[in-house]
Amino acid sequence: MGNINKVIMICVDTLRADTLFNREDFYLKYNIKQKLNTPNLDWLVRESTLLKNCITTSPYTTASHASYFTGYWPKHHSVMDFFKNKLSKPTIYNLLNKKGYKTFFCNDFPFILGDYLGFKEGVDRYYIESELECLKDFHNTDGNKFAFFHFADVHWPYGYHKLKSNNEFDSLENFLMEQSKITGVPLSKKIKPGPIEAIKEDKELLLEQNYRMIIDYYCNKKDYNTVMQWYADGISRFDNSRFDEFIRSLKDYGLFDDPNTLIVIFGDHGENWSDESYGHFNSCDYSVINVPVLLHSKSIPRKIINEITRTIDIVPSIINFLNVDIKNDFDGVDLYSKAPDHSVTQSWVSDFKELVGFFQETKNKNEFIDGKIKSFLLKEAVIKDNKKLEFKYTNSGEVEYSKSSIIKNGLEINTDLNFQEELGEYLRRYNHDLVNRSDQNVAIEDKILNEFKNLGYYGGEQ
Ligand SMILES: [Zn+2]
Repeated sequence: MGNINKVIMICVDTLRADTLFNREDFYLKYNIKQKLNTPNLDWLVRESTLLKNCITTSPYTTASHASYFTGYWPKHHSVMDFFKNKLSKPTIYNLLNKKGYKTFFCNDFPFILGDYLGFKEGVDRYYIESELECLKDFHNTDGNKFAFFHFADVHWPYGYHKLKSNNEFDSLENFLMEQSKITGVPLSKKIKPGPIEAIKEDKELLLEQNYRMIIDYYCNKKDYNTVMQWYADGISRFDNSRFDEFIRSLKDYGLFDDPNTLIVIFGDHGENWSDESYGHFNSCDYSVINVPVLLHSKSIPRKIINEITRTIDIVPSIINFLNVDIKNDFDGVDLYSKAPDHSVTQSWVSDFKELVGFFQETKNKNEFIDGKIKSFLLKEAVIKDNKKLEFKYTNSGEVEYSKSSIIKNGLEINTDLNFQEELGEYLRRYNHDLVNRSDQNVAIEDKILNEFKNLGYYGGEQ
């Protein structure tokens, strides 16, 4: 196993697994005309161990990262919702920090992946949107070390996150003006309050809000393919700009050739626009919950893992490669000694207005009140082998639908078979000790329920 004592985790937020592992099907599904152009991601796929069917515990950023970092199910690390509860389990960098590792964290979403939910515990050096500076400091630091880099560029507005340069800003603004002409959607000049992910200037927020309005226009017309083309373009844009510079730096520092370094690249959830899937937030569609995971180290023989794995298995697997004595009762397993049995994914949602209010309050008071807002379970899915069972619930906890499907080559295929009896038991067991479930009876009007499509976005005001 070599002597790995340097660990780098890299999240490309919102990156779908099939854009790396199953491109032809991705192109076909959304009628993608402008194909992906991603030399860096392609190279990483060729060089790394691939987890092709890894399943996230949650289709949104916070809960998903919490499972990647802790090795626990959301019900155990407490970050089940988007922005409601603080982490209650230590992260890998917190555990390693206690064992003498220097820890670095570079964050594109400092609001939701920062202090408020406890993601900065055990971080020695913290950076916002400055990956090259963080990487340089990491490189110049001796001894055992861990770094995490979060990139939000593939998240909408697709291909744009850092609008620091005028070029970037103008490019997005021109795109929106052109779209406004095509669609007849007037661009807004006033910022509406919404959930907060990053710290942005007003003019950037306005562009994001208008981008989101244009997405809504196409989705209302059920023209999902246009939006998915932008998503694909965003991945190419990122790979050829910001990611290109970053990967080049990793190569220049010799980190890909260093047998003592382990680099883990992953997506936190996918993206899919359809009648049932508004981006990612409310979705348990396979295209959203199947996340790409790539492990790169000169000390680990490359292999392709096609079996179902879970994001909770990443930390136990990483720790197995390190010479540290960490005793923990992770929910996940070390993938190099055990195959996981089944995966569970849940999507919890809150009243949109209440959530937005809570974001504003947290920002204004600079204080996070744990568990203040109410939420309920909207969707959940269990996957075992190639079988998937999904439920959607109403706000009063009744089953709105259940759906059985088969997973084949990274695709979800409808089936007439019913897996309720076979797989339902796993969900019952998962939910058995879930205290928050009592929240389920929170009354939410249907009108507001429809606004869940706005979750994570702006424009929730009536
Ligand atoms: Zn995310």
